[in-house]
Amino acid sequence: MADCIFCRIAGKEIPSQVVYEDDAILAFNDINPQAPVHVLFIPKEHIASLAETEDRHRDLLGRMLLAVRRVAEDRGLGQGYRVVNNCGSQGGQTVNHLHVHLLGGRSMQWPPG
Ligand code: 5GP
Ligand code: ZN
Repeated sequence: MADCIFCRIAGKEIPSQVVYEDDAILAFNDINPQAPVHVLFIPKEHIASLAETEDRHRDLLGRMLLAVRRVAEDRGLGQGYRVVNNCGSQGGQTVNHLHVHLLGGRSMQWPPG
């Protein structure tokens, strides 16, 4: 998707601070961090949102969460962290390429806004 900012980040057309990468997933620091650690995990394949995932994405989705856990360990988030997926307009999604936020390094509040 040429007009998708996260596809362009996945294709390295737009630079990002990469913290994890494998054949299917890229993780990079959020440009507007909301916590001391704020990392975004995206599939390299364009998927618009969690609502667009299918059964064939089972392995990819599992690998994304395992990548989150790995980065959380690497970043020393042993006291806990939050994993967020904003899905759709009412979910607060602003970039229409599936992504998971890892937020950590401070105490989180509940409920979210
Ligand atoms: P959403 O609101 O869709 O769940 O999250 C989109 C996230 O992408 C936001 O936290 C925003 O700061 C981040 N973001 C948007 N554009 C860029 C960019 O060009 N580079 C990086 N690293 N993050 C971005
Ligand atoms: Zn995309």
